[in-house]
Amino acid sequence: MQSANVSWQECLSVLSERIQPQSFKTWLKPTQLISDDGNFLEIAVPNRFVANWLENNYTEQIVQAVREVCGAPRKLKYCVSPSTPRPVPVQPPPPVPMDNYSRTLLNRRYTFDNFVVGDSNQFAHAAAVAVADAPGRNKFNPLYLYGGVGLGKTHLVQAIGNAVAGNGAGLNILYVTSEKFTNDFIRAIAEQKTADFANYYRSVDLLLIDDIQFLTGKEATQVQFFHTFNSLQQTGGQIVMTSDRPPHEIHGLEERLLSRFQCGLVADIQPPDFEMRLAILNKRLSAEGLKVSPEIAAMIADGIRSNVRELEGFLIGLSACSSLTRQEITAELVTQLLEKRASKKPKEISLEEIQKTVSEYLRVSPESLKSKNKTLEVVTARQIAMYIAKHHTGHSLKKIGEFFGNRDHSTVIHAITKIAESLSIDGNLKHRLDEILKRLTA
Ligand code: ADP
Ligand code: MG
Repeated sequence: MQSANVSWQECLSVLSERIQPQSFKTWLKPTQLISDDGNFLEIAVPNRFVANWLENNYTEQIVQAVREVCGAPRKLKYCVSPSTPRPVPVQPPPPVPMDNYSRTLLNRRYTFDNFVVGDSNQFAHAAAVAVADAPGRNKFNPLYLYGGVGLGKTHLVQAIGNAVAGNGAGLNILYVTSEKFTNDFIRAIAEQKTADFANYYRSVDLLLIDDIQFLTGKEATQVQFFHTFNSLQQTGGQIVMTSDRPPHEIHGLEERLLSRFQCGLVADIQPPDFEMRLAILNKRLSAEGLKVSPEIAAMIADGIRSNVRELEGFLIGLSACSSLTRQEITAELVTQLLEKRASKKPKEISLEEIQKTVSEYLRVSPESLKSKNKTLEVVTARQIAMYIAKHHTGHSLKKIGEFFGNRDHSTVIHAITKIAESLSIDGNLKHRLDEILKRLTA
């Protein structure tokens, strides 16, 4: 048996010189040595994902570093321990030469370094770093990231692009929204340049395509996208997509596209919790050179819960208000602005808004909710609308029934019970309902 105990810190410092800084920070920095019995090293990692990633990608390098540091070999064993510290941002990456950017359409503001990682986005972040590490040469192709508005999807997808642009490999990167993809395609048709269009999109090594849900219903564009997709995958190109919902909830997308979306990795981003909002806020405050007390920062993080974009919007408003009126940022000023913001929100949701939002989200026509249409899609949408009306407006069952196509109150009760029952067993339904409510109350 070997007696020399391994200094994990020394191993890490050896590894930090051999592994890309961003990858080191994500995969190795948050590890700790638990035990060394001379045969096995037991290493604590924050989650299974990191364990698998280390096992599949870094075993050789770690074993080698351990051998160098303690002069004897060890085998590796990982143990998931959620309290293992998360990586903290290190120094910013080196600047990217300008010409790499000419075509990418990336915004340099969005980097991994200024992306705050917490429970709600840890998985998506880790997957994004993995893709940036080895675009096209990983199991996450395509990578599909989804989550509600303002939660950092665009930031993360562009951070992948910026990291790859900065790694010196000279890959061809392209960031587009699905709207731009559609418009480019339409223009190509008009100008009879569809072959150029196809070549252009198929020549990239890393295609980042944002807000894929807007391809819904655009059939010709979907066909183009499908071919682009296949061609990129055949040539080892990497695709990263974002959407406001999981693949199976994008109605009106071709089945074959949907199944392609799901053959890589699908990762979600949830709204940030209080600690994370506070961390994001503090980061922003210091970036803007704004000073507020910890109490005030906590008030803001507590007052704005919806998403990061709103949090940022509030800060901009706050800083503008304080500089215009030459007031210091005090608890009173913050309370005032928080109240002003709250009073702008509609107090009551109307039946018309429910009809509109439900039909938009579930992609049925608004009229169908009031019609005799009995297709499964419409019936489900109507039942969801009734359920929301019952729980989020003051209207009676009778009024709700009348509004949704002159139905009697027993139909409304049936709908509400049906949805309530399904909610307890159907996670997807719950997610859809949450999304609709988010939109209604946004
Ligand atoms: P989405 O595309 O999901 O709607 P964005 O990526 O546009 O959201 O994010 C909205 C704003 O919030 C951006 O300015 C982004 O930089 C910021 N943001 C979102 N999540 C984070 C995070 N985890 N850390 C730092 N900034 C964030
Ligand atoms: Mg976005």
